[in-house]
Amino acid sequence: MIERSDKSDRLRINEIFHSLQGEADAVGFRTVFVRLTGCPLRCQYCDTEYAFHAGDWHGIDAIVDTVRGYAAKHVCVTGGEPLAQPNCLKLLERLCDAGFDVSLETSGAMNIADVDARVARVVDVKTPGSGESARNRIENFTLLTRRDQLKFVICSREDFDWSKAYLEEHELADRCSILFSPSYTQIAPTDLAEWILAERLDVRFQLQLHKVLWGDVPGK
Ligand code: SF4
Repeated sequence: MIERSDKSDRLRINEIFHSLQGEADAVGFRTVFVRLTGCPLRCQYCDTEYAFHAGDWHGIDAIVDTVRGYAAKHVCVTGGEPLAQPNCLKLLERLCDAGFDVSLETSGAMNIADVDARVARVVDVKTPGSGESARNRIENFTLLTRRDQLKFVICSREDFDWSKAYLEEHELADRCSILFSPSYTQIAPTDLAEWILAERLDVRFQLQLHKVLWGDVPGK
């Protein structure tokens, strides 16, 4: 359905759904996910390719009303790459104003400087195994606070070694939480857990809880 709303106040939405947060600091909490259409990257392991093109336009008021209908405290704005739509910044602000605990999942390729300070930003660092490591926006790193999280999806032992060196090179460990996730089906989770222990890395291992519970299906 295409709503009649001012272009300055609308976003193309792929889906809005209700689930348990599967990753990062809010893992396990009942959360409403607002998935925006579109992404300029093409990571080889992408599990949301269905969000690259499909979606309808919705005004911000209608989006906030839909989110409110689930009566959940947590809201996660995700994609695709949500910041590829400039009105995402307005949506984040409006969700914070409405009293939600808001997080943003972003690829690390876009400027995060203008994201509302109340939002917890979960920023990817793309490893070589993703095929998109040239897109990492290093200027973002100095903007990170303890509220934010940097997420590495590890596809191989080479990716792990690269990530360890990258943390040191950019002095990231003290800026915010560092999350290491195994790329789903590409490495065994236990291998990544063992590497972290053997190397004594102070990073947080995580599995995608929603995939453990429901498998790799959209809308969960
Ligand atoms: S940034 Fe995210 S949505 Fe975009 S291609 Fe990579 S994994 Fe998929």
